[in-house]
Amino acid sequence: ILIMIKSETDLKKILESIDHKGYPAYKETKGAYQFGKYILTIEHVQGDPFAAPSQVRLVVSGKSAGLPSECYDKRHKRIAVQDYLLRKLAFEISKKSFDAKGSGKSGLLSISHCGQEILERSACQINAENGDVTIRMEIGFPAYGRTINAKELEKILFQILPEIINKVMLYKNMDKNELKETICLAENQFFIRNELKNRGFVAFIADGSILPRESGVSAKPLKNAVKFHTPESMRVEMSLPNGNAVCGMGIPEGITLIVGGGYHGKSTLLEALEKGVYNHISGDGREYVITNAEAVKVRAEDGRSISGTDISMFINNLPSRVNTKSFYTENASGSTSQAANVVEAMETGCKVLFIDEDTSATNFMIRDELMQLVVAKDKEPITPYIDRIRDLYNRFGVSTVLVAGSSGEYFEKADRIIQMDEYRVLDITESAKKIAQMYQSQTREVKKEEKMSETQIPDCDRIALPYKEWIGERIKIKVNKTDDLNISKDNIDTRYLEQLVDIEQLRAIGYIMVHMNEYMFGKNKSLQNAVSEVIELLEKEGFEGIMKGKYVPCDLAIPRKQEILMSINRFRKLKLQKSKNC
Ligand code: ADP
Ligand code: MG
Repeated sequence: ILIMIKSETDLKKILESIDHKGYPAYKETKGAYQFGKYILTIEHVQGDPFAAPSQVRLVVSGKSAGLPSECYDKRHKRIAVQDYLLRKLAFEISKKSFDAKGSGKSGLLSISHCGQEILERSACQINAENGDVTIRMEIGFPAYGRTINAKELEKILFQILPEIINKVMLYKNMDKNELKETICLAENQFFIRNELKNRGFVAFIADGSILPRESGVSAKPLKNAVKFHTPESMRVEMSLPNGNAVCGMGIPEGITLIVGGGYHGKSTLLEALEKGVYNHISGDGREYVITNAEAVKVRAEDGRSISGTDISMFINNLPSRVNTKSFYTENASGSTSQAANVVEAMETGCKVLFIDEDTSATNFMIRDELMQLVVAKDKEPITPYIDRIRDLYNRFGVSTVLVAGSSGEYFEKADRIIQMDEYRVLDITESAKKIAQMYQSQTREVKKEEKMSETQIPDCDRIALPYKEWIGERIKIKVNKTDDLNISKDNIDTRYLEQLVDIEQLRAIGYIMVHMNEYMFGKNKSLQNAVSEVIELLEKEGFEGIMKGKYVPCDLAIPRKQEILMSINRFRKLKLQKSKNC
């Protein structure tokens, strides 16, 4: 498509001609304008000074920005540099917000607020081919009441923005050391994450890491925390690409149990591992807490809906005799919800599960011997996780890292047992196993390991039927917190997606779901394949790939495949069913 690019003088003329007119005349500014080092595109103009602000896009040409190609020649480096520039930009922009005056949102300047994680965002993107830098942000077009104050917009567009761009977006003005460190960290993180696979680890935690967070509502590191220290038996060294080495704890594939007294730091360790699927910024304390990127935290979630999930490896012979190979409910129990969460995590291709007893259904996790004696096996529909955990690893290569401080049942299943003792990790595998064996030989007969039957293997793909309400019309997507996604009139409860870290990821999931619904659902394409395709599309074409020619919102971040599928699974009006060819 050919877009007319006007000059900055053209924009100035338009501004002069609409000054003091009614607010809707601002619409005339829509379009693209060549400024010295960048093209400014006014993509959306707000309807009045109190409405959601207008959106602009600035593309600084690769030649003007002057970033050396080693800043963006690899995906992980590009994302880290984008994130770095965006944070600088956000800082400068916040200083100038409301410097231009007027009513309502007049003069507001706003761009993504980045958290502790490094994500790919629509707010700042570097073109991998030519080094062009695209910035997307919001501006409150100024007015007195509803009368245009074009002078104030001129101040923003011709003075404030050019200054900020000069300061932040030109390589010659950048802090080269910081930039170098940013790239170095990205390379190290990328390297370690790859090494995990090569060396059979599910996660790595470097010595000196800070795991606890400041508070329940702040993801910043806790001050004066006890730093992470690796027990000798689990120490591994990672030789980094930059020539340095980092030592820490490697958690091997298989079954890892985390035990310890209450308040000794078990959940904190697990939470750090959950978030380790993302890279963290320098100073976070978790820069070198690196987890298998597809790992999923699984928890109980009573009340969720389940649509066509095969939970038969855990749940069979329900009193209602409903089919658990393809299970439907509007209101799952603790155990059925957790069973569905495990199987759906496996559907996403995930090979590492994190489970915390604090957020699990007890009857899903264990069934003690006394209970087995009292309630006959054929009266209990649940095969607890403890009887499947070994099969999950041996058959499907799915490792588990499990926090279990209150029951010793899992000792015999674990390959590795870690104790948290006053926030310090102890490897107690040998001693715990020995005690567990002694205890068992005294108190109970050797129980035969229960094997999964062939019919219980959850191998069925599911497909989604398209949801008519989301097709064609202008679809509104709203999110306020990471708890809840609103697409036109529908709501998806995402409260329990604990690895969804940013509101922009959730907003992007909204657009992705609408895209998938229109182009992928109802075509007998399995959910996994559909979501892999959409991720590929995002990687190839960026957010443009899912926007159907509309402008890309300034507040999107690329989510993981896992959270996309989990959101789809939680949309109550979507009909999911087994695909015909299975
Ligand atoms: P558990 O799950 O074993 O009961 P938590 O992980 O919930 O314990 O931790 C209990 C408290 O200890 C939390 O407030 C947490 O922030 C704090 N904490 C955890 N790890 C550390 C640490 N390394 N240094 C200081 N405080 C910590
Ligand atoms: Mg806990």
